[in-house]
Order: sequence, then C-alpha cells, then structure tokens
Amino acid sequence: MPLSRWSSRHKKTFGEKKKEKWDGNFRLPPKPDSYYIETKGCCRWCGTTILNEDDTINMRKTWHEDCATEYLLIYHSGEQRAQLWNRDKGICNHCGKFSMGWQADHIKPLVEQKGVLEEDLDWSYYKLENLQTLCKKCHRVKTNSEVVLKGKGKVNYKKWSK
Ligand SMILES: [Zn+2]
Ligand SMILES: [Zn+2]
Repeated sequence: MPLSRWSSRHKKTFGEKKKEKWDGNFRLPPKPDSYYIETKGCCRWCGTTILNEDDTINMRKTWHEDCATEYLLIYHSGEQRAQLWNRDKGICNHCGKFSMGWQADHIKPLVEQKGVLEEDLDWSYYKLENLQTLCKKCHRVKTNSEVVLKGKGKVNYKKWSK
C-alpha cells in the first residue's frame, strides 16, 4: 500500500496513457508496455493478473498494491520520502544519528545507470533496498568520496550501508 496520501500529483503520475520513447533520463526509467494498456484485472506495472483471495481475477483493479508501492517509489519523490521515513525514522545509516534534515541516498548511485540501454537497465538500483537515509553531513562526505573514488575506479559502497 503506497504511503503518501492520494493527491492530484498522484493522479497525474498514474494518468499517462501514451507511450513515448524513453528520453534516456536514468532518474526516471522507462515504464513497461503494460503501464499504457489499462485492462481491469491486469497490473499496469508487472503485467500479470490481479487475483482475489479466492484466486478469481479482480476485475476492479489495475494495480497490485505492492506494484503501486514500487512504482511510486521511483516516480513520486513524496512517496520515496514516506517509505524511507517509515523504515528508517530519520536515522542516518552511516553515523546512526537522528537528523531532521535527513536526505535520501541511493547506495549504488543512480548515475551508474546513465547511458545504459533500456533493455540493460539494472532495476535493483530503483528499489527501496538501494535507498538509505543519510544526514546532510554524511551524505556530503559520501558524494564527495564517490567523485574522488570514481576517478580511481574503486567505490566501496559496502562502507556506506550496514
Ligand atoms: Zn503487479
Ligand atoms: Zn550521518
């Protein structure tokens, strides 16, 4: 179940019906074909049927709840923050301190998906497991070290997660 409240922005996010060629923006990966074909009983995210508890097809829904959660995590920043808050409660994953100004960080930086072809995208980059809460200070240090280490070809992400 998505955590952020239903809003007009959600409506917009869920609303597009026409598939356009992906512009290569690695922060907003292309949506699957099933997203654009709204068929009751079939999930717009994973493309498989939506079943009721008794295994009959649910003809009212067009999303699995888990799929809607996963989808909004990628395309809706408010939902991303809500899910991270729900899991981490603002506690920095590096120094362990609570911070009001916590920031969302991709453990494996999304920028590594830059220039990757649509069919070669690594979706693990976009999952909640690849997101962590960092305080501003740790986030800055991590970002800086990524820039430095990238040049040397050795970024140690493990250092940055539990
Ligand atoms: Zn689904
Ligand atoms: Zn910290």
